Formats: sequence, C-alpha cells, structure tokens
Amino acid sequence: MTEIDLAELIRDVPDFPSAGIVFKDVMPLLADPAAFRETIDRLAAWAGPRTPDIILGAEARGFIFGGALAYALGCGFVAARKPGKLPWKTVEATYALEYGTDSLQVHADAVAEGTRVIVLDDVLATGGTAKAKVDLVEQLGGTVVGALFVIELTFLHGRERLSGYDVHALIAV
Ligand code: 5GP
Repeated sequence: MTEIDLAELIRDVPDFPSAGIVFKDVMPLLADPAAFRETIDRLAAWAGPRTPDIILGAEARGFIFGGALAYALGCGFVAARKPGKLPWKTVEATYALEYGTDSLQVHADAVAEGTRVIVLDDVLATGGTAKAKVDLVEQLGGTVVGALFVIELTFLHGRERLSGYDVHALIAV
C-alpha cells in the first residue's frame, strides 16, 4: 500500500490569525477519509509501543486527533481546556505567548499518580502549549511518555522547550 502524502492535505493560510503568520490548516486533511485514517494509524504506530494509559489533548484540534488516537490505542482521553470551561475542580498551567500569557486546565482527578501520558496536538509551534500540558501531567504525578504532533514548525524550535522528553511529529516543515 502506498503512503498518502499528508503534507499535501495541509493548507497554508497566509496572514492568519494575524499579518505575517502562515497558518497550517489541517481541515482538508481531516475531511479526507483515507488521509485522516492514515494520520491516526501513523500516530498510533509511534504511540502504541510507549504504552500510554491516556492521551491528553487541548482544544480544539487536539480533541479531534486525540480522541481518535485514544480510540485506536484502546486508552483513555483527557481534555486540557482554557480556564472556566471544565466543570469540576481543576489544576492549571500558565504559558507565555508572544504578548502576555495563557493558561490550560485539567480536572484534578484526570491523571492518577503513575499514569503514563502522551500529550498530543496538531501543531508544535513555539512549544508553549505542549510544555503547559507536560506541567499539568506532572503536577498530578503522571509520567509523560511522549509528546506527539501531526506537524512541527521546525523554525520555531518548540522542541527545545520539550528537551528531555520523547518528541515526535509526523510532518516537519
Ligand atoms: P505553541 O504553543 O507551540 O506555540 O502553539 C501550538 C498551539 O497553537 C497548538 O495548540 C496549535 O493547535 C496552535 N497552532 C499554532 N500555530 C498553528 C498553525 O499554524 N496551525 C494550526 N492548525 N495550529 C496552530
């Protein structure tokens, strides 16, 4: 079986969300049945041997890939959300943006001590979001066994924020 060129289904959108940014739009990839399935299969091929108990993804696209990946692996899914969205007791991690800061929360009982977690997102850019997810897992006593992405924007050096962790992206641009 020939591999699908997933990169061909990722659309570059210039000047989104602001001037000078070229946004990687994964919607065409998600809408293509064979490409979406192959993306999840390739994520699962990397994640499976690391035997995670949980996939942790943040809104919004981390939910889509993360939910499908958790199903494929037969493990659980934990949602990291922006403050105020989760209904129960939460823990929080704050990370730097170009201007200011942002935060992510998970439920305080979402990651039990010793749980093996893969943090997942569609895009690794500066690494701030992924590092916040790592912090959330570790605050709760979990072990990060991988940081997994569909796309890595290598020119932003996000990997450096995740040094010491097992990092993988299906596509590097
Ligand atoms: P970071 O925190 O690594 O700078 O940014 C990564 C986060 O922002 C991820 O949650 C990702 O979904 C989003 N993001 C940043 N740049 C892009 C992009 O070009 N395309 C998409 N789809 N998401 C992006």
